[in-house]
Order: sequence, then C-alpha cells, then structure tokens
Amino acid sequence: MTRRAAATLRTATDLIEHGLASPENLSALEKVAARYAVAVTPEVAALIDSSDPDDPIARQYVPSADELVTQPNENADPIGDHTHSPVSGIVHRYPDRVLFKLVHVCAVYCRFCFRREMVGPGKETALSNEAYASALDYIRTHPEIWEVILTGGDPLMLSARRLKEIMDDLGAIDHVKIIRIHTRVPVAAPSRVTDETVAALKVNDATTWVALHANHPRELTDEARAACARMIDAGIPMVSQSVLLRGVNDNAATLEALMRGFVECRIKPYYLHHGDLAPGTAHLRTTLEEGQKLMQSLRGRVSGLCQPDYVLDIPGGHGKAPIGPQYLSRRSEDAEQQYRVVDYCGDVHLYPPAD
Ligand code: SF4
Repeated sequence: MTRRAAATLRTATDLIEHGLASPENLSALEKVAARYAVAVTPEVAALIDSSDPDDPIARQYVPSADELVTQPNENADPIGDHTHSPVSGIVHRYPDRVLFKLVHVCAVYCRFCFRREMVGPGKETALSNEAYASALDYIRTHPEIWEVILTGGDPLMLSARRLKEIMDDLGAIDHVKIIRIHTRVPVAAPSRVTDETVAALKVNDATTWVALHANHPRELTDEARAACARMIDAGIPMVSQSVLLRGVNDNAATLEALMRGFVECRIKPYYLHHGDLAPGTAHLRTTLEEGQKLMQSLRGRVSGLCQPDYVLDIPGGHGKAPIGPQYLSRRSEDAEQQYRVVDYCGDVHLYPPAD
C-alpha cells in the first residue's frame, strides 16, 4: 500500500517504506540510486497506483533493476551536447539558438533522462558566477542567437528572484527575442509555479515560451493544469514535449488522451521524442516502427491541433530529425509526376488523380 509522502522520496529505502518498491529489490535499487539520481515528489508519489506492477507513472520515476544493464549502443551523452559546447553551460548546435544549462537539479529524476549522467545531487549543481558570466558573454557576442532555451536540470528549480535576474540579463541582449524554458515542475511540483515565478518569467523586449514535459495523461492533474493556467493567463504561450516510452504511453489511446489533455490546457503539442540511447534505458524504448505506427493512428484519431512532431535526436549531436511516418511518395521514377498519398485511414490515393 502507498503511504502518503510528506517530502520528496530520494532513496531506495524511502520508496520501499512508502510502498513504491518491494523490499526484495533493495540491494538492486540501491545500486541504481548510487549511479542515477532518484527523486519522487509527494505529488508524483500520490499519482502512482502501487497495486499495479505496471503503473505508467511508476515506470517513469521509480528506479528499476533494468537500469543496471547498459547496451553497447547506449552513451552517457546520447545527443552530443558536449560536441557543441563552446563554453560551460552553453550548447550551440543550430545557428540561431542555444541551450543554456543553468542548473543540474530537477524536482524529479526521470528514469529515461538523456542527461541522467549529468543531473542530480552530487553532480555539478549550478554554474559558477564566472561560468554564468562567460555563457552570457557568449550569447551577447553571437548576434545570430535569436532564441535561448533554458534547460538543465529544470530551470524552474531556481528561486523566482534568481530566475528574474537571469531573464532580465537575457532580455537585455538586443538580438535575443525568444526565451524558452523547458520544465517538468508544473507536473512534478506544481506549487512551485507561484505568482512570483510567473512574474519572473515575463521580460521586456523578449517573448517567453514554456515547454512542459509530460508523458501520461494522469500527470495532467488539476494542480498541474492550474499551474500551467497561471503562466498562460499571464500571457506566456506553452508547448508540450513528451517521450515515447514503452509501458507508459506506447499505445494510441494513451497518446490520444495525453495530446487532447495538452490542448485542453491551451498547450500546443510540439514534440514526441523517440527515446534516446541513454545508459540503462533500453527497457523503456520502443522501436522506430512502433513509433511511426502510433503517429499514424494518432492522425486518424485527433485533429491537427493535437499532433506533435515525432522526432529523433541523432546521436553524435547532429540535431533533431522528424521521423515520419511519410504520407507522400513518388509513384514511380517515370516522367508522369504522380504521387501516392496516404489518408488518415491508411488508404492510398494517387495525386493528381488518374483520369
Ligand atoms: S526533468 Fe528533464 S532533465 Fe530532469 S530528469 Fe527528467 S528528463 Fe531529465
């Protein structure tokens, strides 16, 4: 039985005491926790149905002995952040935008995190003042940077006061027009999204966007929805990002409910990420074919407003690629210039139609 948590659960023993893991797994879970950070907030713990051994919320947050198995193709830096890091805290992969990694802590630690070797207590926790100043200088001296994406760790773990200083620093750079914040806090610790936080996110001379990370419709609780509404009502537009995860959201009904939930919250579905090759995460990854099939069924079930892009971060730091499925193909290589196009039911038509 789950015992209500009063504080964030951070150890295997905490999880066992609160009915979220079984005592026979203690030693394996301690090994996992020694390598990858663990944190389950009271709000997330309350969402877990501990009577369900396959609970989709537990699979995202409660460690598993499967994480001790690293596949040969898995990598501590699966999307190649290091390759594109000119100064500490900055990843400059595309010409017009940078990632700005301010903190290395999160409210919760996701079992599939692609930065799992870099986030958590005991890792570097925040940029030093000097490193922060150098990162800001880098942005200042690169006029091609139009968008700064605050990520981490979770930027909403910063105090409202610190967040405001950072937002003001970025807003003061003429060429920075967009500041995007990637966060799981509205889901994992919604009460952190206070009026002060929301006020801190708004900045003169730049537009703030917030990208919410959620993977299952049950994560969109009334409290999470209210936290998002506080930002959106203040004029901050939101998009979503989700990771396709085996046993969590790898079926059409769950994905449909998740995407509908986002749109109901005024959050535009943006990305559905294919699981990255992070160490010890193979048990949570689907195949690309499964992902494409799910995207195809989503197209038949929900409107365009509810459609995310299914994307793969190409290992080695080569950026994101939309990975289909494809709806259009050349009929043949002849001169006729006719195409095959697939409708939402999967039926194939010719374009232009044959006479
Ligand atoms: S909140 Fe984001 S950065 Fe933190 S553990 Fe989850 S996926 Fe990783």
